[in-house]
Amino acid sequence: MIYLDNAATTKMFEEGVDLYKKYACHSFFNPSAGYGEAGEIKKDIASVRRSIMKKLDVLQGDIIFTGGATESNNLAIMGSRRNGKTEYVFSMGGHPSVYNVAKELERMGFVVHFVNLQENGQIDYKHLESLLNDKTRLISVEHISNETGAVNDLKQIENLRDKLSPKALLHVDGVQSFCKLNVSLSKVHADFYTFSAHKFHGPKGVGGLYVRNINNLKSIVFGGGQEEGFRSGTENVGGIMAMGLAVEKIDVEKNLKYVKSLKEKMVSILSQDNHVHVNDFEGSPYIFSVWFEDVNAETLMRAVAGKGVIVGTGSACSSKKAGNRVLENMGFNKQQIKSHIRISFCADLNIEEVEKAGRILLETYNEIREKVL
Ligand code: PMP
Repeated sequence: MIYLDNAATTKMFEEGVDLYKKYACHSFFNPSAGYGEAGEIKKDIASVRRSIMKKLDVLQGDIIFTGGATESNNLAIMGSRRNGKTEYVFSMGGHPSVYNVAKELERMGFVVHFVNLQENGQIDYKHLESLLNDKTRLISVEHISNETGAVNDLKQIENLRDKLSPKALLHVDGVQSFCKLNVSLSKVHADFYTFSAHKFHGPKGVGGLYVRNINNLKSIVFGGGQEEGFRSGTENVGGIMAMGLAVEKIDVEKNLKYVKSLKEKMVSILSQDNHVHVNDFEGSPYIFSVWFEDVNAETLMRAVAGKGVIVGTGSACSSKKAGNRVLENMGFNKQQIKSHIRISFCADLNIEEVEKAGRILLETYNEIREKVL
């Protein structure tokens, strides 16, 4: 099988599974317990916090471990300080775990603005500029779109925030960028940054939220007071440790260079066919979208899966729903949207696999197209 849906999830590192097992079967103590063994676990968890801060290139702030990015996004948005301001600004490109929280805030009576996307999938910075004011409480944007790979310019967003609503907090959904792009939160002053382990070869159901100033956050889960009271519930120790292993193991720079070459190969193959449209927006090399004239993406996806090639049709979380908010906002029409697939890489793939998958995609597309035309 050639798996090209790494934006949906990735395969765990085997060493991470071994480490998980160690913390599940041997060092299985509850980190909140009073005996020495438990204290050791607390220290191990603290070392993962340090690894993550290092990867984010930041000294100041805290890491709150959560049950994954959906929870981190909810925590950042619903738990962000109520500083007397009433307006929120969200990207139209946000993952449902952000977009649906925004919709909930709207139902609660807050003023919620959505920033449109440009044709290249990045947010429209001019539109953002027009929405910010001194009532803005929180701005939430995805660093990299999980649908298209478009990379938002965080520095530009931060500068607009500083100029027009300096008290507003900035939340970045970093799920598709953490451990994939070099992220420096010393240079970009996001207040919250979300990540999820299973997107970078860690386990599912564990992730976290970077918080620059803990005074800006309130808990949304109440209980035993773990994670300094910001996320009650016994820590997923094995998951956190396996995530830490992945963070340590991944060489972002090296992988990025390599994955770029994989994307270039795939784009060069797909571009040989005039009826195939690669959305090559110079986004993240890990994710790109492409649409195939006259053919339904679901049909193509199933047909290539039958030949051992796995691709996505948009975000796994939204693939069941009709339409696609993100692509629609970028200006694609219904037919084009229906023909879109998403290809997403990881550094485990080799170039021969990518070449083979590209050929299978083109061959299969032409077989289907001949039948439908
Ligand atoms: N944000 C983005 C950008 C994502 O791609 C995803 C996963 N598709 C999530 C949030 C949600 O992550 P999780 O399923 O781990 O909660």
